Parts: sequence; C-alpha cells; structure tokens
Amino acid sequence: MRLDKILANSGFGSRKEVKQLLKKEHVTVDGKVVKDPAMHVNPMSQEIFVLGEKLDYKEFIYLMLNKPKGVISATEDLREKTVIDLLSPIDRHYQPFPVGRLDKDTVGLLLLTNDGNLAHQLLSPKKHVPKTYYAKIDGIVTEEDILAFKEGVVLDDGTVTTPGELTILKSGDTSEIELTIYEGKFHQVKRMFEAVNKKVIFLKRLSMGNLTLDSNLKYGEYRELTEEEIKSIR
Ligand code: URA
Repeated sequence: MRLDKILANSGFGSRKEVKQLLKKEHVTVDGKVVKDPAMHVNPMSQEIFVLGEKLDYKEFIYLMLNKPKGVISATEDLREKTVIDLLSPIDRHYQPFPVGRLDKDTVGLLLLTNDGNLAHQLLSPKKHVPKTYYAKIDGIVTEEDILAFKEGVVLDDGTVTTPGELTILKSGDTSEIELTIYEGKFHQVKRMFEAVNKKVIFLKRLSMGNLTLDSNLKYGEYRELTEEEIKSIR
C-alpha cells in the first residue's frame, strides 16, 4: 500500500498534510527516513515510525454503534443520512460497512466492520447467530404469543419462522418484551408480531451473537470492539 495512504488512514491528516510530514523527514520505514509518499510499504510486516512513535496500523476495524432512529443501515445514500455519516473521518477511511441491517426506525446494536469474512460468518443463515431485541408492542402480549413464536409463525409472504424465544417483561395496553431470533429476515420482528395481529411501536437490538450493546453508548455513539469482543464473535 502507498505510504501516504497508510498515514492518512491512520489519522495523520489528508494526503497533502501527510506529504508535509514526509518532506520534513518525520517518517521512517524500517529505520530509514522516507520522503516519497508513493513508496509502497507493507504496514503489517514493516516498521513505520511517525514523529518518533511506532505506527500501530490495523487492517480491520470493528465498531459497535448504538444506532439512533432516522439513519439508514447503508454505506451511502443520495437522500438519507447513513450510519457511516456518524463515523469520524479516520474511521471512515477503513471503509466499514454495517453487518446486516436495522430498519430506519430501529435503534440499538449495529456492528460495523471492513472484515468481510467476519460479516459473512455472522450473517450466514447456516450459522443461526442469535439476535435479541427489546420491543414495545401496542396491545397485550400473551402466553399464546410465546408459544406461537416458539413453534414458528407464518409471515405475510408465507414463510414460516424458526423457533424464537419471547419473554414478556410487561403486559398491558403497551407491552414490553424481549425476543431472541436465530435468523434475519427483512423486518422480521415487526412481521412476526403482525403475524399475531400486533404492532411493534419501538424496537431496539440488544445483542448479536456474543456481542452485547454497551450501555454507556448513547444513541449515535460508537466505540471500537475490545480484543475479547472480537475473539468472542469469531
Ligand atoms: N426486525 C425488524 O422488524 N426490524 C429491524 O430493524 C430488525 C429486526
């Protein structure tokens, strides 16, 4: 990879600013001062120092976002604000993408990464990765609904869901529930409730596989995953 790209990706400013750093002899590669921005360097095997500090270059980025309402789970859109717009320019340099989708009005845990293999693992229908949601439902959620979700419900397109685990937290005019499902069909949670004649009025994803939303993250905030978290979802 070009040295100026590596440095720009690592937060040392624009390519123009990086050029200045190089010109001022602030960068070494394997102990030698390098001034050529176009020099090809392997950041995984070669040692890069900038302003006397070793560059900790990473190939992959893993971000946990507490998705707010009103943004879409896409990398770009002509009209709508996307989850990528919530990231800092440095993090955007890594070109992360959302692992799966949450609806525009759904909030909560969204993993963003540029690690295509990991995304594939987590999204593969064969892996049955559990996803847990908290939801507010218009109407009374009943024991029959628990049973129906356990057995599988027929969605509007005729498909039958695999067993899901529904827990009633509060039942009343507005009920509160937690639901764990092991597949990820389009609008699945909303459609499962529609199948039992109920409407989801608030939906938040709490976890995906072993990854649980950090309660310190406010809507729109994100952080990098810890090493342990990355290992736990591999
Ligand atoms: N199920 C839905 O209906 N919407 C989401 O955003 C996620 C799961």
